Amino acid sequence: MLLRNYLMLPFLLLVAASVTAQITDPKATEFYEPVPPKVQAAPVIVAAPSDAIVLLGKDVDTREWVSATTGGPVEWTREGDALVVKPGAGAIKTRRTFGDVQLHVEWRSPNEPDKEGQGRGNSGVFFSERYEVQVLESNGSDTYTNGQAASIYKESPPLVNATSVMGDWNSYDIIFSAPVFNKDGMLVRPAYVTVLHNGVLVQNHFEIKGTTAYIGLHKYTAHPDGSIMLQDHSNKVAYRNIWVREL
Ligand code: MG
Repeated sequence: MLLRNYLMLPFLLLVAASVTAQITDPKATEFYEPVPPKVQAAPVIVAAPSDAIVLLGKDVDTREWVSATTGGPVEWTREGDALVVKPGAGAIKTRRTFGDVQLHVEWRSPNEPDKEGQGRGNSGVFFSERYEVQVLESNGSDTYTNGQAASIYKESPPLVNATSVMGDWNSYDIIFSAPVFNKDGMLVRPAYVTVLHNGVLVQNHFEIKGTTAYIGLHKYTAHPDGSIMLQDHSNKVAYRNIWVREL
């Protein structure tokens, strides 16, 4: 028995080392099964209610937004009633900061059938500049399930895949509860998120585990309320009709 315990020791040390070691492979947090079933649904187009702050209206005025990298004016491209990601210009974020909100966003992936996976129509809606609801062309292209459209990126796959056909509009209606930290920076209440994709429930009061990260497990770092941010992931994703209600 004693001998057997000695033989186990190197193994136990190895396990302990691997648990505490930093995860360096992004694939360690990418999951492929089960695949959320596909659901056909159409975008829910809702005009801003009277108590909403219009972040992007029909006039595509970007006064509520700044470049997230420079803090200066938004350099994305205006196309009709939409604002389109200008690859390389960087993310944009709201001038205002928000806590708990209801957010309506409409988005459309570019028609790029030659691209696939995370390279096809990738963008994202971030809350407090940290927590990403993924935007991706996930109707005709597969990727890891916790990285597809309407996933909480690298945390939670959507309950179903309600993504519109490439080139068609999608809607997100998101209810986000910001995390609460005490004065010592300790997490008192995690963030929660509920997402309806094209009117279909895909995230049901999901408890967010921490700041979105490409590599490694997510963890919280104390922060004040932040901006809502839209990602530039080098794809010409279009946005229109964005409004927010503070809760
Ligand atoms: Mg993204």
